[in-house]
Amino acid sequence: MTKIAFIGLGNMGAKMTTNLLKANYEVTGYDLNEEIVEGLIPIGLKKATSLSDIEKDTDIVITMLPNGDIVEEVYDNLIDKFNTRTLFVDCSTIDVDKAKALHKKCEAKNLLSLDAPVSGGVGGAEQATLTFMVGGTEEAYKIMLPVFKVMGKKSLLCGSFGSGQATKACNNMLLAISMIGVGEAFNLGINLDLDPNKLFEILSTSTGSCWAINSYCPIKNVGPTSPADKNFEPGFSASLMLKDLTIALKAVESTNTRAPFGAKAQENFQKMINDNKGNLDFSAITIFNNKAI
Ligand code: NAD
Repeated sequence: MTKIAFIGLGNMGAKMTTNLLKANYEVTGYDLNEEIVEGLIPIGLKKATSLSDIEKDTDIVITMLPNGDIVEEVYDNLIDKFNTRTLFVDCSTIDVDKAKALHKKCEAKNLLSLDAPVSGGVGGAEQATLTFMVGGTEEAYKIMLPVFKVMGKKSLLCGSFGSGQATKACNNMLLAISMIGVGEAFNLGINLDLDPNKLFEILSTSTGSCWAINSYCPIKNVGPTSPADKNFEPGFSASLMLKDLTIALKAVESTNTRAPFGAKAQENFQKMINDNKGNLDFSAITIFNNKAI
């Protein structure tokens, strides 16, 4: 049986680990917060009290951590102890250059590695419907595929090292821009005395339709249930969106890409965070930009 170590058992990691345990994988878990680790012991998790408790014969090490510096610290602590061909899979959202540097470190030790950030949020992690955007080799992807299938509904090998993070950066920059646009369209409609439900009915089936309208409409009591119906409780927080935009804009700069709307979106979310609204769902940008909060 494949032996997995899962490091970072927060909002996402705990739910992904739960699905691995349900599928009868042998999983050892480590998190700085021991309480979360202990909460998963009754469903079969083996507790690691430190990184050194992770056994040498582990086949796959999965990380789901807040940022690239923390992932690097964990890799630096671990990679020396493992046998050739242990597979390191980082599912955290980190910047493209850091992901490439981590792959190089693994390659130098003859270890396999993938960057595999996810889309789908906490709900997707719980329901095992995540999408994995994967960067790395075909060999590593084939080993990981059955494990991706347990935690998600889709995975795609997007290209070589760093391609998963690059794909995620493109997706989330687009999401930020489209959510701001959706908010502006609804704010305009409401100021023009339109019925927001009728506006939704047209926008969600016309050329302006997109995920931010159809599945995550940022207006209360309009469209399917979304954070707007729960006082913008996240969901996906504005702070996490700013983190992802910062990663995307770093890549925009390093590749000399023109992305003025991406830069503007970053500026908008930065203002929201400066105004202490970073803990709200990112779709609250709609009312923040309308000066209603
Ligand atoms: P989280 O803060 O809930 O969980 C992170 C966990 O890592 C925490 O439990 C923390 O204690 C642990 N941790 C921090 N430093 C550690 C260390 N050195 N060793 C071991 N454990 C450590 O975050 P999350 O929401 O689970 O997100 C994790 C990653 O997934 C982030 O990179 C985030 O951008 C990405 N992501 C999150 C979502 C979402 O909706 N929450 C969606 C897609 C991607």
